[in-house]
Amino acid sequence: MRASHPELPLELKKTTWRKFLSQSVGASSIGEYWYCPAKIANARTFGEAETTETVKGSEYHEIEAKTIIEKLGPLKKVKVESVFDIMKLSRDNIEAALMNREILANSEEDVLFWSVLPEARYIGVPDKADCTNAEEPILMDFKTTARLPGDAWVDHRIQLGAYMLGIERLGFGQSYGIVRYVSRLDSTLTTDFKVYLDGYLRDEVLATAQEVHKIFLGGKPRPTSNPNKCKACPYRKVCEWSLARDN
Ligand code: SF4
Repeated sequence: MRASHPELPLELKKTTWRKFLSQSVGASSIGEYWYCPAKIANARTFGEAETTETVKGSEYHEIEAKTIIEKLGPLKKVKVESVFDIMKLSRDNIEAALMNREILANSEEDVLFWSVLPEARYIGVPDKADCTNAEEPILMDFKTTARLPGDAWVDHRIQLGAYMLGIERLGFGQSYGIVRYVSRLDSTLTTDFKVYLDGYLRDEVLATAQEVHKIFLGGKPRPTSNPNKCKACPYRKVCEWSLARDN
């Protein structure tokens, strides 16, 4: 039996979505901080870096998301002005998907549900929510990778934890979320890991959100000391802290 949802705070109607976006950090940045905090500073300076791998990962997700969204039929157009509007839209869509036992997905064109935590000023767009159990949305986040790992990486756990907290804020408890790794060489090869929103994950997400905000406001990051991370990093040629610059 689903619990009834608490009302969303009406004061969120006073904050425009545009203003909130300008003052927020992304849930993906909260995860990336765990790869290397300097990536946050580099994204701020040089913009989000795209690599062949990230482009391929996005393409894989877009194809899947569009197929899922098409199956849902025509989407209702809703006027969105405030944070409240976005949260209500997200909540209504998840609620309807639970009623109809559907899967929701977000594509670049159509975002059906956001993960928003106004108190920590972050936003995120989870890849997918499986609502077919009619009880709770099970979030899924996809990562394409060269080799399937033996466990979910910490940055991916934290990112999913951030999404889950935002969905909980809408009134939906979740027993767990799933990080799915997909092989870049053969997309039929996948492996799933469950992530539980326990006290540790909650604390780490909230503490990291604060650290990411500090870096966005110009604070100095503490870069990784692991050269292997730099070798795989799209900022390695421009990053002032890079341990893998060619020159
Ligand atoms: S190059 Fe290294 S230090 Fe710089 S952002 Fe990437 S991982 Fe961090």
